[in-house]
Amino acid sequence: MLEILKKSAMEQSRALKNKEVSAVELTKASLERIKSIDEKLGAFNSLTEETALETAKKVDEKIAAGEELPLLAGVPLALKDNMNLIGSKTTASSKILENFVSPYNATATQKLLDNLIPIVGKANLDEFAMGSSNENSAFKKVHNPWNLNKVPGGSSGGSAASVASCEAALALGSDTGGSIRLPASFCGIVGMKPTYGKVSRYGLIAFASSLDQIGPFARTVEDAAALLEVISGYDKHDSTSLKLPVENYRNSLNNDIKGMKIGVVKELVQEGLAEDVQKAIQNAINTYKSLGAEIVEVSLPNLKHSIGIYYILATAECSSNLARFDGVKYGHRTDDAKNLLEMYCKTRAEGFGPEVKRRIMLGTYALSSGYYDAYYKKALQMRKVVTEDFLRVFAQVDALIAPTCPNTAFDLGSKTEDPLAMYLTDIATISANLAGIPAISIPAGFDKDGMPIGLQIMTPQLTEAKLFNLSYKFEQAHDYYKQLANI
Ligand code: GLN
Repeated sequence: MLEILKKSAMEQSRALKNKEVSAVELTKASLERIKSIDEKLGAFNSLTEETALETAKKVDEKIAAGEELPLLAGVPLALKDNMNLIGSKTTASSKILENFVSPYNATATQKLLDNLIPIVGKANLDEFAMGSSNENSAFKKVHNPWNLNKVPGGSSGGSAASVASCEAALALGSDTGGSIRLPASFCGIVGMKPTYGKVSRYGLIAFASSLDQIGPFARTVEDAAALLEVISGYDKHDSTSLKLPVENYRNSLNNDIKGMKIGVVKELVQEGLAEDVQKAIQNAINTYKSLGAEIVEVSLPNLKHSIGIYYILATAECSSNLARFDGVKYGHRTDDAKNLLEMYCKTRAEGFGPEVKRRIMLGTYALSSGYYDAYYKKALQMRKVVTEDFLRVFAQVDALIAPTCPNTAFDLGSKTEDPLAMYLTDIATISANLAGIPAISIPAGFDKDGMPIGLQIMTPQLTEAKLFNLSYKFEQAHDYYKQLANI
């Protein structure tokens, strides 16, 4: 059964339709694989076996009745453990929500269920999606399937590792500053952050609401495009969700890209890039040239401020969003409090890990009356300036390319003592969140140690079709995506 698990989601879907395998068999195979290898990987916080098999059974009934199947029906998927699925725990990899059971489905989850996609389990993450290495999970670390001593990237490390190791064909993650693209790059798969507002955030545990966006993980561009089609669309439960029709991205994957103008972001290919990553970018430039695209160098002069802006805005928003975890309504409550104030304080002290506490404190500080203008307001203004950089550049080019990260996956433990070094991992990804534009990471080769390298592509808001088109053309020009982690 490993052979079928190694196939892409679309191939698995075809195998189901051709009755080469049943949906129950496929889901069982995925669950078996998780049970046999996940002790080494740590990609899952919990399995949702019953729901998955129930969904798979419905798929088999439809096949038996000769009915048409919805897109990706029967293809096993891992759900990041910060999205609600009724009856399953949604922990956000935090002690404060360790025993929290989802009372309702996130809209993205509901759409998966409507399409009969079996959700096999809840994928590990950095606590409340805060981190770049998945080492901030309160429960366990995730290991990179290509080398178990390395990080998978974060915060959606479990989602990425599960897809890269063929535990599941698909996964959902959330991306606030790079949490889908970075782990996709470190794990050698496709990870995509849609335009802000494309996918409803209802039922996603909020980290920084003006930046958070749910998106797909897959091993091929076509699979990622299909999964975005399933989960996107207007939702009245999310006031920031966009009232636009759901698009079919697969139709334009193979469009000719001759004559398209692609900008190479100067600031992201200069200093500080690992040599092999540099080579991979040059290789990408050559590939696009040979496909007929025109390559120009462009500058995003304010990109250097993006980490500073992000760590004020994201922490400010998280300090507000996480105020609800106070022992009253959700999750953990201390056993040991003499009065209400002590209950709040002890609950939060016991429930949150060190990175989450650091961010709540930073954000509270940035929002406090004496500092609001100096930090929060300034950061908001600078966000606009970064966004304007993109608008100016997109007046000249169709798309931007850059590395997803200046380096490949690093050793577990090597950055945990240095938060700033960890924050810098997101230098190439954060600005897309600030500007609300779609961005993707696709496999673009390997470094000398065999670790995957990710190519990032960014396009203007709501041009996902073009983003997938450019990604698909690159993917098909190489066979990087065919190489799988050997675990
Ligand atoms: N690594 C970034 C952070 O720690 C981004 C996280 C994310 O996108 N959720 O905040």
